[in-house]
This record gives sequence, C-alpha cells and structure tokens, in this order.
Amino acid sequence: MSGDHGKDSLARAARAELEALAGKALTPRDRLAISSQDMPCQDPVARGGNMHEVAEGYDEAQARLEAERCLNCKNAPCVEGCPVRVDIPGFIMKIREGDFGEAMRLIQRTNLLPSVCGRVCPQEKQCQEPCTLGKSLKSVEKAVQIGRLERYVADRARACGDCDLPRVPASTGRRVAIVGSGPAGLTAAVDVRREGHEVVVYEAFQKAGGVMVYGIPEFRLPKELVRGEAGRLEEMGVRLELNFLVGRTRRLGDLLAADGFDAVFIGAGAGLPKFMGIPGENCVGVFSANEYLTRANLMKAYDRPRAATPIYPSRRVAVLGGGNVAMDSARMALRLGAEEVRVLYRRTRDEMPARAEEVGHAMEEGVKFDFLSSPTKILGGQDGRAEALEILSYALGEPDASGRRSPVAIKGSEKVVPFDTVIVAVGNDSNPLLARTTPELKVDKWGHILVDGRQKTSIERVYAGGDIVLGAATVILAMGEGRRAAAAINEILQ
Ligand code: FAD
Ligand code: SF4
Repeated sequence: MSGDHGKDSLARAARAELEALAGKALTPRDRLAISSQDMPCQDPVARGGNMHEVAEGYDEAQARLEAERCLNCKNAPCVEGCPVRVDIPGFIMKIREGDFGEAMRLIQRTNLLPSVCGRVCPQEKQCQEPCTLGKSLKSVEKAVQIGRLERYVADRARACGDCDLPRVPASTGRRVAIVGSGPAGLTAAVDVRREGHEVVVYEAFQKAGGVMVYGIPEFRLPKELVRGEAGRLEEMGVRLELNFLVGRTRRLGDLLAADGFDAVFIGAGAGLPKFMGIPGENCVGVFSANEYLTRANLMKAYDRPRAATPIYPSRRVAVLGGGNVAMDSARMALRLGAEEVRVLYRRTRDEMPARAEEVGHAMEEGVKFDFLSSPTKILGGQDGRAEALEILSYALGEPDASGRRSPVAIKGSEKVVPFDTVIVAVGNDSNPLLARTTPELKVDKWGHILVDGRQKTSIERVYAGGDIVLGAATVILAMGEGRRAAAAINEILQ
C-alpha cells in the first residue's frame, strides 16, 4: 500500500500504470500484479478541525485501474457476499469499458443507495471478503475495492445528472404506509412505489434518512447525498410526513383501520441507547452516543452561537465502547474542539467490532485508545458535572459465545482519571413505543419485532425490517429487509 494518500499523486501513479497496460491482453497473473488503489484522504491533521468528508474518492484513472484487477469470476463469490446481490462483475466490466452510465444502471437494479453503500458498507466482511483476487493474494485488504468503485460510479452519475428514476406505472389505488425513513423504510418505499401503489412515509424527526442523517457523521457520509436520495423518492411521488411519530401522533392500528392504508411497513430502527448501569451516569456531561451524535449532526450543536441546544466545549472526553458508533463519537468530539479524546474498551484492538478503516482513521486523527480498561463509576463534582472516571483494568480470558476472548477484570487495578465528558457507546435497543401502543405486535425480550421469512409481523398486512427486527445492524442489511418486505407487500396487493 502506498503511504501517500494525496489525491493527485495517487491519480498520477494510476495513469502511468494504466498507460503501461494499454493495448495488452491481460492474463489473470497480470491482473494480480496490478496495484490495489488506495483511497485518497484529507490530511489527518487538517481534517481533525473540519467536518468535510475524510475519504475523497477515486478519480477516473484510479477507478479504471482498480477495475482492471477484477478477474471476472464465473461463480462471482463477491455477489454472494452482497446482501442485495449487486451484479458486481457486471458493473466492474462496464467501468473497464468506460461505460459509467451502464455501470450505474446495473448497480441501481438492486441497490438504490449506492453512494451511501459505497461509503459506509463493511465491504471487508461482505462482498470483498470472499473475493477471489483477495484470496489469491492472501489478504482481504488486497481484494478488488468494490465499495470504492461503487462510490465512484454513483458520485460520477450524480455529478453528471445521469441517475434514472425507477419507472412508476399508473396508480393501482392501493395505499402503503411506511414507518421510519431509514434505509429499510426508504428501500421499501421505492420498491412498493415502483408497482404503482400510493406511498406515505411517516418520520418522527424533522429530516428523512434515519441513522444516515442523525447518526453517521458528515465527515463519513455527507448529508447532501442522503437528502438527494430522499428527494428522488419525492420525485417518484412518495409523500414524506416529517415530525410524525407513529404510536403517538397516530397509532399503528389507525393507519390500517381508519386511514385507509392497505399495508404498513415498520422500519423504526433501534434508537434507544443502552447505558453501562454504573454509578454517576446521570452526571452532567455524560451523553449517550445517540444524543451526542444527533445533536451534532441533526441539530448542528457544534454551531455554538446559533444552535438551539449547543454542546458545551469539552476538554477531556472518554468514549466507552469499541464499535463504529464509538469511533464516530470520538472523531466527532475531536472536531468539536476537545483537547484529548480517549476510547476505553474492555478487550484489545483485535476484538473491536469497529471497521479497521475507522479505527485507523481515528488513530491518525489523534484519538487515543485505552484497551483492556473500562469504568466502574463516573465521579461527579458538587455541581453535578462529571469530573473523573474510576477505571478498572482487564486481561483476556477464554473465548465467549461471540467467539471473542472475554475480558477478565483485574482486581485492585482501579485508578481515577479526570474527564469532563463521557460518551456511552455500548449499543442500542429498540424503542418500545410501537410495541407498547400496539399490544398485538409481537416482540422478543429485547423489543425486536418478530417477523416470518417474508418480514410479516404478528399483525395481518403489517411488515417490519431493518434494525427494529435485527437489532443494531448495518445499512445494507436494513435495505435487504426493506426489499424483502416490499416484495411480500406487492404480492398481497396484486
Ligand atoms: P434507522 O436508520 O434507525 O431509521 C429509523 C427511522 O425511523 C429513524 O429516522 C427514526 O426517527 C424513525 N422512527 C422511529 N420510530 C418511529 C415512529 N414511531 N414513527 C415514525 N418514525 C419513527 N451501518 C453501516 O452499514 N455502516 C456504518 O458505517 C454504520 N455506522 C453507524 C454509525 C452510527 C453512529 C450508528 C448509530 C449506526 C451506524 N450503522 C452503520 C448502522 C446503520 O446506520 C443502521 O443499521 C441502519 O441505519 C438501520 O436502518 P433502519 O432503516 O432499520 O433504521
Ligand atoms: Fe471480481 Fe473479486 Fe468478484 Fe471475482 S470475486 S468477480 S475478482 S470482484
């Protein structure tokens, strides 16, 4: 891998390599020897002080050279690894041919949010994990960079205005309500609308997009992209009702019984933050990651003079947890001006659930990691503000049910470390509102809605998918569930 992540030098090197390959009939061995293309990124020091996107995206030469690496495998294991089964070798061949419009059309047949997925999908665990090229080179990092190519095609299509809207036939007179506008809800809405049914999306927040808008920060996923995708929905005739909380503004049962909907899809996500259950979590300066990121992303709390609910400046921030949400919170805290940000995680880097790329980016930006440590209490001052954490050290023991080595507390290792802000990022549960206001809706002990193989809930004509069913998962899995539910809804409305 090149150590230079500058856009110009990476593009220059790619152009030179492409020119050297021009006119040659490449054998698989030649393709294995082509350099894997790094993602150009903003300089780590500069980006710690701004909200602009960190990854800058390939230029055309990089995209074409990366596409030349693909072996165009007949069995295409990469497609098997993609939850929405994008025709990966097909779109990569179109990039090679320079037919970017057709590449976009191939992707859009099954993925309606390619510029989002190209940025945030954990490709190293999905399509890139089984890639034949990566296996031949004995490193998943050397697999064809499918996500980066998908992002390139989608960004280019957007810049050229070359994104076809799915065709909407004449109205069938059938009506479908979608609860929640995250990736599950948006995908279900498009697929149902494609059949000519009327679709209304009800969203509790003032903006559509779910976690893509209020959770994942601007520096990883520009909000303009999500706005664009929601705007396309409206162009297809989908109605968005914002600031509408189903279960309070209107009950789920009323949508079917009184409001004339023929079916409902619930994609309400997993937005209820979990806490550690340690003393002191009620101190001022202790946030759930959800609240912290929502205030920063959705309510622009970093704009202190103008924000309705500004986040006061922190000096020393502790982030508790080891997932993507913890990485996003830590990197956001740095951008909000914290002097020091430390991630506390009970295991080691090898067991961290966060994407390796995100951990690497956080480290480059100056986030510090205290592995094998976790707090036992938060100590507050007389004014009720958090002042310090009592931290216990751990060692790794035997593997637990998740297959990861379990953390074992080291007795007597407690120490007190000063922090004025604590962000708890240890996971989310489902919001119980819908289940509480709709007793016939069956949920499991974590509040996840129970569905059958076609995403149908315990109530006739009511379907559900995404995090509200899976628990906190991923954008692409939520989209896959939205798609499956839409297919079932379309069938019953035929
Ligand atoms: P959500 O995106 O949560 O959307 C649900 C929507 O429903 C919300 O807008 C909510 O306001 C609305 N809603 C809830 N209840 C009601 C109601 N009663 N009435 C009306 N509206 C309602 N995944 C990745 O693949 N890659 C990543 O890099 C990644 N990073 C993440 C970072 C953070 C900080 C977080 C929190 C999550 C991240 N995820 C990531 C996970 C991913 O975002 C989720 O799995 C995905 O968004 C789930 O989609 P969904 O449609 O099920 O729910
Ligand atoms: Fe190309 Fe890898 Fe898919 Fe084979 S598995 S078609 S090399 S992307």
